[in-house]
Amino acid sequence: MTDTLLSARGVRKAYGSFVALNNVDFDLARGERHALIGPNGAGKSTFIACVAGQLPGVEGSIAFKGQEVARLMPADLAKRGIGRTFQISRAFLHMTVLENMTAAFVIAAGRWASLSRALLSDAGARAADMIDTVGLTHRLAARVADLSLGDRKRLEFGMALAADPDLLLLDEPTAGMSIKERHHLMELVAARVDATGKTLLFVEHDIDVVLKIAQRVTVMVRGAVLAAGSPEEIAANDEVQAVYLGG
Ligand code: ADP
Ligand code: MG
Repeated sequence: MTDTLLSARGVRKAYGSFVALNNVDFDLARGERHALIGPNGAGKSTFIACVAGQLPGVEGSIAFKGQEVARLMPADLAKRGIGRTFQISRAFLHMTVLENMTAAFVIAAGRWASLSRALLSDAGARAADMIDTVGLTHRLAARVADLSLGDRKRLEFGMALAADPDLLLLDEPTAGMSIKERHHLMELVAARVDATGKTLLFVEHDIDVVLKIAQRVTVMVRGAVLAAGSPEEIAANDEVQAVYLGG
């Protein structure tokens, strides 16, 4: 019997009169690396945003660790262990890699109100460790604005890990990267997820990356789940092939 971490039932989300998610059922086992794939506009980002609590008006049920979370706020979900990548805001682009990562650890500690020298130095030490983990020590003092896209994605991934989430949501973490960078980043992600016992749900367009990194795959088309299964099952699925080859 598998240990279910997240279970969505009948999830529906409309933007005005447009139904972006229609009756989505989705299960995530604890500890698995799960890819969400499908054509543009299928509703993948909408589903991720629903799980992260970032959208109003979500209907249906989303159970996380057995508790209903479908209509909770992002901060509450973060406390319960659902994390997604940071969008580094404009103001932070002019700060260094170390400063951004340190900020991520201070935020994760929930201690902005009582910032002390000891807390900052502890966050700074953890930040330096995490920067090492994601392979950015040589860019420690670089401004985020000066990072390559690949390095910035590594930083964003590390900042998401700072919160130590049980479930990590990554929406197209490798967008815009070269094939080699994509594989490097996702191998790093998979290794960290496994080493720390986390669960990963990621959206990825590169099917080679999906087949290499994912242990389970869910295919969405036009707001609904078309198929879910092992990478081998999904690769051999006629309906899935029709969607990908038939356009
Ligand atoms: P995917 O990530 O699979 O490409 P999205 O979840 O981003 O798909 O979008 C699903 C559908 O919902 C698309 O048709 C998109 O145009 C629409 N959509 C997404 N966000 C909004 C929004 N804020 N307002 C209106 N329509 C939206
Ligand atoms: Mg998307």
